[in-house]
Order: sequence, then structure tokens, then C-alpha cells
Amino acid sequence: MDCINEYSPVTVLAGVGKARAASYAKLGIETLGDLIRHYPRAYENRGDVCLLADARIDGKSAVILTVATEPKSVRLRSHKSFLKFRAFDDSGSCEIVYFNQDYLKNQFPVGSVFRFFGKVERNGKRFSMSSPVAEAWTETAYLPPLWAVYRMTEGLSPKQITKDIAAALALLSVEKDDPLPLALRERRSLCMLAYAERNIHRPDSWQSLAIARRRLVYDEFFCFALGAAMTHAVSKRHGAPICANGDVKELTAMLPYRLTNAQERAIADIRRDMAQDVPMSRIVVGDVGCGKTVCAAAALLIAVKNGRQAALMAPTEILARQHYADLAPIFTSLGISCALLIGATSAAEKRRIKAALNAADPDARLSVVIGTHALLSDGVSFAAPGLVVTDEQHRFGARQRALLSEKNAHAHLLVMSATPIPRSLALVLYGDLDLSKIDEMPPGRQRVDTFVVDESYRTRLNGFIRKQAEAGGQVYVVCPAVEERETASDELELCDILPDGTRKEEQPPLKAAVKYAEELQAVFPEYRVGFLHGKMKSAEKDAVMQAFSAGKMQILVSTTVIEVGVNVPNACLMIVENAERFGLSQLHQLRGRVGRGTRKSYCVLVTGGTGEVSERSRARLDTMRTTYDGYAIAEQDLIQRGPGDFLGSSADGAVRQSGGLTFRLADAGEDSSILTDATADARALLASDPTLAAYPSLASRVSAMFDINEGLIS
Ligand code: ADP
Ligand code: MG
Repeated sequence: MDCINEYSPVTVLAGVGKARAASYAKLGIETLGDLIRHYPRAYENRGDVCLLADARIDGKSAVILTVATEPKSVRLRSHKSFLKFRAFDDSGSCEIVYFNQDYLKNQFPVGSVFRFFGKVERNGKRFSMSSPVAEAWTETAYLPPLWAVYRMTEGLSPKQITKDIAAALALLSVEKDDPLPLALRERRSLCMLAYAERNIHRPDSWQSLAIARRRLVYDEFFCFALGAAMTHAVSKRHGAPICANGDVKELTAMLPYRLTNAQERAIADIRRDMAQDVPMSRIVVGDVGCGKTVCAAAALLIAVKNGRQAALMAPTEILARQHYADLAPIFTSLGISCALLIGATSAAEKRRIKAALNAADPDARLSVVIGTHALLSDGVSFAAPGLVVTDEQHRFGARQRALLSEKNAHAHLLVMSATPIPRSLALVLYGDLDLSKIDEMPPGRQRVDTFVVDESYRTRLNGFIRKQAEAGGQVYVVCPAVEERETASDELELCDILPDGTRKEEQPPLKAAVKYAEELQAVFPEYRVGFLHGKMKSAEKDAVMQAFSAGKMQILVSTTVIEVGVNVPNACLMIVENAERFGLSQLHQLRGRVGRGTRKSYCVLVTGGTGEVSERSRARLDTMRTTYDGYAIAEQDLIQRGPGDFLGSSADGAVRQSGGLTFRLADAGEDSSILTDATADARALLASDPTLAAYPSLASRVSAMFDINEGLIS
């Protein structure tokens, strides 16, 4: 028993055996530290006691009742039984029932008083409660007012979790040396860690809960900022291939347009970075349609011209295919080999690509590979790695981001983001990546006029579609759901959790893409209507996208799989069905699919036929109608919806943690002032002590969180 610490397995706790440890593992809990950081999902307000007569009708209440009758056990057939007695307060009398818990029989002697917590049912003047929580109550006994409610899984009871967490806290309280430097704790008026951990689980009051939470949120941001900066520093210590030849004239000469000044600047930044022997880590941020792809192409070309290989990774198969379709002809005509590697690539082709990427002979070597996160899979390695570009990186999960930086320690890294990420969050997501901002649109772009309509406009809307198609334009129609949830193997789940936190399946029937495409085809027999969704086979998707790109199809009905990055400049009308179901950033991305060419473009947001549109959804649609600046929209999104979407996890707070890189408690939107403080403090601390040599417990916490061993703590 000599060295129990927060990294000890949960099985060191009395009563936690293999079975319970397995249940904990399902919640991602393996160590005592994990258990302590399994923070409550909510709190029951048991301290807010009321009279039976005033009990809530819509939820649980706490009442203090005196037991009036001897508990009676009633046997039912089928070995079931229940225990029944009456208890009262000044406002009435209540029947209390417990099912299959005969052993409670002696716990409720007549005349004893309890605080009961549960739902009070009312039938005329009669009250009843079924299996309420009961706590013995005396004038002097202290009963905690707030009770933690935890995320559960099979094989665990709330009682067990509460007990195990209390035991873990007691075991570890001995070794409590606070990892946060005292000076910081004082400057930011933060409580001690031991106090915070105790009070987050078993708060004495709302106030102590708030104090506890503030400290823990600070810690999450602080450790994250430290880890991000230190990882970055480690990668800077690795060498990277010097790409001194930064000439991209061959590329620009092939373009049908001139680069904007902002594009020129971004490419100059990239050229400068890649000529160094430290890895570039740069993010190019710019609103949808500003032309980031060509900057990526320039970077790929620079790597190849200097004898290195380059990879471009996109979050969806459709986007990867499109990048390949755009870039492969350019590279091929420059005599540069280029391949597409996605989940759907045939096994034989995958083998060929992997071998060619790894070829020792430079002449046989594949220079450019474009793909999805299939590029991260085992067996993909480069003989002469030079550059990795990720498009829309925030769409990748935390694990994939970590894997990417691990796999490419010695390569230059370029990140492109079309979803403008609020500054506060960019710090969290990208640590201290260098930033190139494309703040200028290619000339001739017009604003995409945006309208919000409901079902009653259907006929007029169809007329508008016809008008656009007759004039030679093309139309996207986006629906939120297909018959089933779309989780194609190679596609990340882009929109699994709806903006209000509920899951798709629980929603009323939505316009299904397939059915809707059929309807539209019937309305427009003279045009070709296609559809696209995540469950389709790759080749099918490809064929549809091809036909639409080539202008052979006028109307494309799809799910959100086209949300990110798709580029068909001739498309001029974006219709979003059940638009109230989408988040702001998603709507902005969708709108960004039109207005990419010279055609005057429109976006029509159609609200669903069934049910009311909530106030929040209204506000979102209003923002879309009046705001065209991607940054303003992203800020709004963060405020309205929280950071889940940006962080690549779901918007559902219950499953926010994944891979340790996201937050359990902190909310980068709500807690943004703590985020700012913690980030500044982390930088200052690292400036004086880059390896945290003077703070061993802080250092081990950060490295555990980031899963880094390599050279971080020396
Ligand atoms: P995003 O930044 O959203 O990735 P893309 O790179 O897909 O944007 O570019 C959008 C469209 O703008 C493409 O059709 C591209 O060919 C075009 N484009 C890019 N740069 C320019 C430019 N300087 N002038 C005119 N059109 C451009
Ligand atoms: Mg793009």
C-alpha cells in the first residue's frame, strides 16, 4: 500500500473488483485520478425542501416527512414484493412505496423523520412517492444540500460511484501537494485543488461549488495550454527538411486567375517557413471560398520540388476526392506523381500506394498523396516526408489530431481552416500555430442573398429553382437526415448531435434525401435530379459528384456530406431544408457552397413543416439572414451552441471528453475569460521554465494528459 497515487488503478479501492473496474473502463475511468475527474453531470437540489402541497409537478422535490405507519410488506405473485407506509408533513400525508426492497422494513420506525427526495405524485388530496431517496433527518444532523448526479453505465449504481469517489478522495488527500504554483493560485484567487475536488463532488453550497468549478476549469485550460505549447516546442526541436526552392511560378502560370494579395502573402509565409530547418506549423484561416486550396497546392509543390513527399488530408471522402480531382491534373502536367488514398480505395491500390510512398528509389517514389484519415492508418509511411497539409482540421477528432502530429514529427505542417475559429478557441485547438489570414475574397464575388421561409413558400420556391436551372445555374438542396443515421465507414460523423443536444433519431420525421429527390424529380421532369448521402457506395457518390460538377445534373439533393469544401462554381442556389436543425457554422459552410463563381447566388433556409421553431433556432436563422461575416457567425455559434462542434467532439456535454485532449468541465465559450488567463499564465510560466523542471507534479499531469513521453520532461 506504499505508493497509491492518482495513477493507481481503481481496483486499489476496497470493494472494486474486476467487474466494477470493467464498468468503470466503459466510462473511460481506469485510475483513481480518472475517477476523481469523473465530474458530476448535474446536481440534485435536495436542500431546497418544500411542503408536500407545494411539490413540483414537473420534477423531483425534497420533503421532510414523519413516518406515520409501520412499513408493511406486500407480496405479489412472481416473487415480487413492495414495502408501503405513510408519512406526513403539515400540508398532508403521503404514501411511500419501495419495490423489492423488503430489507428496508426496519429502517423507518414510526415517528422518525426523513428527508425524502423524489417525484411527488398527487391524486386529488392524496400524495404518493415511489422509491424516493431517504436520509434520516434531525434538527442537528447535517445533510448536504446538493447531491451529485453522475454519468452512469451498466453495472454501476449511483451509490457505488459516490462511495468510490469519496474513497478515492480520502486515499489521495494525504499526498495532496497542489500542482498549481502558489503565486498563480494567489494571483487568480483560486482555491486549493483538494478543496476543489471535494466540493465539485459534494458541495456544501452552490457558492462552494462555483469556487471549486472555477479552479478545476482553470486547471484544465492551464494544463492544456502548457501541453500544447510544449508539444509545439518539442516539434520545433525536431529537424525538418529545408525546402529552399520556393518557386511556384509553374503552378500560378496554370491558373485561370491571378492570386489575390492575401493569397500571395499566405504563400510567401509558407515559402519562408519551409525554407527553415525547423518544422513549419502554420494555419491558413480564411472564410469559405477565399481560395485556400491553391495555397495548399503551392506548399505541396514546394515540398516536391525540394525532393520531398507531401500529403493532403481532408476530413471527408468527398472533399478528398474533390481535392484530388482539382489537383491531380495540375501535378500530373508538371510531371509530379499523385495518388488518392481513402477508405474506399481498393486493397490492391492501397498496397501499391503504400509501396510507392515508401520506395527507396526516388524515381519510383510517389510524390503527392491526397486522402482522408486513411492516411493515418498503419503501414502508411513516407520514404522522404516533407509536408502534411490538413484541410478543415477542426473536423478531425482529438485522437486523429494527436496521431497526426505524432506521425509527422519531422515534416512541415500546414493547417487550413475555412470555419473561422474564434481566437479564444484557436489558442486551445492549435496552441501557438503561426497564422496566415486570408482576409480578401477573389474579385467578382457577390454576397449570397439569404432568405428564411416556411412550407407555405413551397410552390414559389419550386418556381425559383426552375428559374435558376433555366438560366443555366445549378441548385443544391440539403436535408438533415437520410432514412437511417449516416455513418459511412470513411466519413467522420459530421452532424450526429443536433444543435439542441438531442440525437437525430428522436426528432420528428425529416425530409429524407432520397424521398425528396424523387419528389423533386417528379416536379422537374425536364431536369436531372441526383442525390447524395453518407451511406452510398463510394463509386456512386463519385459518379453523382462528377455529374454535378460537370453540369450534367441541375439539382443535387444531399445530406450534410457536401457541407465542407465542395466546390462547384456554377452552383448558385442553396436550399437548406429543416434549416432550424442546423448549427450556425454548418449553415455558413453550406451557404459557402454557392457564390463561388460569377453567378448571382442565393441561399434559402426552409423551416420544417411540423412543429414549432424554437426561439433559439429563430435567432440562428436570423443571424444567417443578416450576417455574412464568417467570424461574426463563428463567435455567435460559440455563444449559442458551445464549443463541442469546434473541438471535434459532440455538442453533448456528457461525452465531451475524448482522448484527454478536450475538456471535462470547462466550456471554452462560457469560460472564455478563465481561458484567456490560464493561457497567458501558461506562456509566462514556460518562458521562465520551459520544461517545468521546478514543477514535477504539474509536469507529470500535463504529460499524462497529452500522452507524450518523448523529450517533454527532461
Ligand atoms: P476555400 O478557401 O473555401 O477552400 P477554394 O480554394 O475551394 O476555397 O476556392 C474557391 C473557388 O475560388 C475555386 O473555384 C477557386 O478556383 C477560386 N479561386 C481561388 N482563388 C482565386 C482567385 N485569386 N481569383 C479567382 N478565383 C479564385
Ligand atoms: Mg477548402
